[in-house]
Amino acid sequence: MKSPQQILHQVFGYSSFRPPQSQIIDTVVNGGDALVLMPTGGGKSLCYQVPALIRPGCAVVISPLIALMQDQVDAMRLLGVKAAFLNSTVLDEEVENIQHQLRSGELDLLYIAPERLVQTRTLQLLGEIDIALFAIDEAHCVSQWGHDFRADYLQLSLLHELFSSVPRIALTATADARTREEIIVRLYLDEAKQFISGFDRPNIQYRIALKYNAKQQLLKFLKNEHNDDAGIVYCLSRKKTEDIAAWLTEKGFNALPYHAGLGPEIRQRHQSRFLREDGLIIVATIAFGMGIDKPDVRFVAHLDMPKTVESYYQETGRAGRDGLPANAWLIYGLQDVIKLRQMMASSDGNEEYKRAEQHRLNAMLGFCEITSCRRQVLLSYFGEKLEQPCGNCDTCLEPVDTWNGTEACRMAISAAFRTDQRFGVNHLIDVLRGSHSDKIFQFEHQNLPVYGIGKDLDNNQWRSVYRQLVARGYMSVDLDRFGALRLEEKCRPLLRGEENIELRKDNKVKVAKQQTKIQLAAEVDIALWEALRDCRRMFAEDLSVPPYVVFHDSTLQEMCLRLPQTMEDFEMLSGVGERKLEKYGPGFIRVINDHLDS
Ligand code: ADP
Ligand code: ZN
Repeated sequence: MKSPQQILHQVFGYSSFRPPQSQIIDTVVNGGDALVLMPTGGGKSLCYQVPALIRPGCAVVISPLIALMQDQVDAMRLLGVKAAFLNSTVLDEEVENIQHQLRSGELDLLYIAPERLVQTRTLQLLGEIDIALFAIDEAHCVSQWGHDFRADYLQLSLLHELFSSVPRIALTATADARTREEIIVRLYLDEAKQFISGFDRPNIQYRIALKYNAKQQLLKFLKNEHNDDAGIVYCLSRKKTEDIAAWLTEKGFNALPYHAGLGPEIRQRHQSRFLREDGLIIVATIAFGMGIDKPDVRFVAHLDMPKTVESYYQETGRAGRDGLPANAWLIYGLQDVIKLRQMMASSDGNEEYKRAEQHRLNAMLGFCEITSCRRQVLLSYFGEKLEQPCGNCDTCLEPVDTWNGTEACRMAISAAFRTDQRFGVNHLIDVLRGSHSDKIFQFEHQNLPVYGIGKDLDNNQWRSVYRQLVARGYMSVDLDRFGALRLEEKCRPLLRGEENIELRKDNKVKVAKQQTKIQLAAEVDIALWEALRDCRRMFAEDLSVPPYVVFHDSTLQEMCLRLPQTMEDFEMLSGVGERKLEKYGPGFIRVINDHLDS
């Protein structure tokens, strides 16, 4: 029997395990259950793939992402692993073929959709064969609280009953404790060893700025920093994803929309182009992203604020799986909060649920407003402590100025109070700045004591004051009254002069731009890099797989630096296992030799 280390080297071409991987693998190899929480890009797949190749029988991987199964299986086959998948897209003839392979013990790995797994005939089939392990991927889908909930996942509890001697490993990148508890309870994983990794993603730069002209801000960000890069732009509404995608295309970017209303073929086509083409931008609602393991997503941009810090973490986490620098960029404004609150208010769900949602939205808003290191706060949200400020977020790179906003806040609150808490932010600012608008005279607000007392601040500054008052819970938005601002209990000490308040100055962030392009060392020839990419593209097209399935950018970079000219040298590259060495080594070596000769 081969050791995990041997498999890692020979099959996957990697030299060492990352810290928790080897303990997880040992646990499963020895027949124990495991619950694995690891950030995106942490290397969860190896935790079941390696045991699948060590334990006798076929490993069964349950995943809700049927659109990605073909790619996953292709990637395994390229490594020489005998893999197949079963879901509703597989034709009967192929199903029979797979059943045959399973019965004769020819498969190492079977990917299967949960709804397929729980069918009686599938369970019967599995009952007849040796099963190495069950891997439950995206295990947070059992959580009825999360937006990825899949009813079929609840039925996976029967694995525990029917196959009590087969080890089970549940994996997710969702961090919060409640979801973790739910996974344990619903999947009967109380005996499972828990492996909870740190959630930091040091290669991701977090940046949050105020929204003043969303399109232009996005355009500038893309032009300055991500001209040819693959990335995801998240928007709240379906319509907006289409508008922005069309607009970006007009501006010369390669962009496609993605949302749940698009129909399965279009979605599949856009997703597949995102995976296969270089430098494509997907403009999507949150319907896009789970399980997309494209390693070279260089940025995730949010044009609207996510509903919770968890979603923000998950969505931004899709950037930079390959460990190379990546950007998480978000712009937001008070309007976002109003829109999200409206959506929540009109959603189904009981009062308790809505209150919990409200609470989580407030936390997200608070996260946007902080003036200290974003990463420290983000990690503390998941119970993790980062001792030092990270140096790779906007507040670290460009410390935020604050000002004493006590007086301004009092005025802002008084304006709302004097107008019976019936008006939205624009009118309140008109009152404070002494505007002559029709509405002022219609309501005779020119006679109020607060009328015109706030001329020292301009419109944007007042907006900023109100936004921060809402973000910090001094005021709230009344949805029954079209966004009227209301006072909250928390105002009292401030109005009584017992509290001072520091506000952040909303200067437009001009963070030094991060070089997220592949950094080629000076001595590396761009021509060689391009030639290697062409070679990779040819192999990929030939096999109809995404280019990164052949080799990652990082492996290509290593080729540029080390210039391997023999099979022995080539084998030393990270990401080159026995099968890939044999299949692609000669082709890439030829490119390198041609380059050196020319
Ligand atoms: P996750 O599923 O946790 O998001 P993956 O399993 O897709 O992450 O792994 C992320 C990337 O890291 C993959 O490209 C994988 O090949 C690579 N990887 C995983 N483990 C190792 C390792 N021990 N050494 C080198 N690369 C690794
Ligand atoms: Zn920081």
